[in-house]
Amino acid sequence: MLYRIFIPLMLRLFAGPALAVEDPADSTIALSGRVPSTITRSFAMRNYERIWKAVAPEAALDRRAITVVYYSRLDQRKQSVRLPEWGGGGAVGRDLIVIPIDRSPLPDVTLPQVTVHELTHIALERAYGRLHVPRWFHEGLAMTLSGQLSFDEQLSLSRAVFTRKLLPLDSIEMVNRFDVHEAELAYSESHLAVAWMIDRYGLDGIPELLRALRSCGSFDAALKQEYGLTDAELDRLVRNYIVERYRGVFFFSDAYLFWFLGALLAILAFIAVKIRNDKRKRLMEEQECAEDETADGKGTA
Ligand SMILES: [Zn+2]
Repeated sequence: MLYRIFIPLMLRLFAGPALAVEDPADSTIALSGRVPSTITRSFAMRNYERIWKAVAPEAALDRRAITVVYYSRLDQRKQSVRLPEWGGGGAVGRDLIVIPIDRSPLPDVTLPQVTVHELTHIALERAYGRLHVPRWFHEGLAMTLSGQLSFDEQLSLSRAVFTRKLLPLDSIEMVNRFDVHEAELAYSESHLAVAWMIDRYGLDGIPELLRALRSCGSFDAALKQEYGLTDAELDRLVRNYIVERYRGVFFFSDAYLFWFLGALLAILAFIAVKIRNDKRKRLMEEQECAEDETADGKGTA
């Protein structure tokens, strides 16, 4: 009986991923350059549709062409866009995405996730045009919808909580000028800020806020209208949310701390062994003295 389960299971395991069925009639997304084997046009399209429903559920899907170019460091000069050294990809305007395939993206994410991340930027631009959406909101939403979460993110947040170095959300506007560590923290905080919004107001709260932004013209006014918050209150609530979640994590996740605890244990073990050896030596010396006294006693008898 077992073979009925076992053989199909083995076939599935060794057959690799099911071949995606591309729809030749749909030309919304074109993949070009050194396209990774993990990414297909139908994967990108499926995610673009999912993102669109999340950010602009009431609007018809914008089917104008989007080109995704995957390139290697070797052909970087051919790209018209310059990404920060830590950049995993870039969305250019509303129609073009460029993704280097041989850089380690920030934070530690896969190329399919980078693709979905950049598609989120494109969808937001297309659905809401030239609205002033803060950078932290753009990045946080792109990270949330692409499912990016890494050990590095937890580490950089817990370190920032421990050292009281969390960034104000509006400072993230300049993220392209940050070094790799600051950028890592900026992206992680942006992610958590949007996660907090979704926790509190649901996923529907996102398009509601964006629609309010379209009618008010400013993010601060939209925030007040939809969530009843000023940007300072939002900053404080997000900060508390991050501190609550990551306060204790530092002690369990930081490699340096493990080294420190390891070294401390080694020193304590060394002291314990030394005390034991000294005690043993003293006992032996006392024993030897006692034996000598007995021997001397015999000699005088
Ligand atoms: Zn981004």
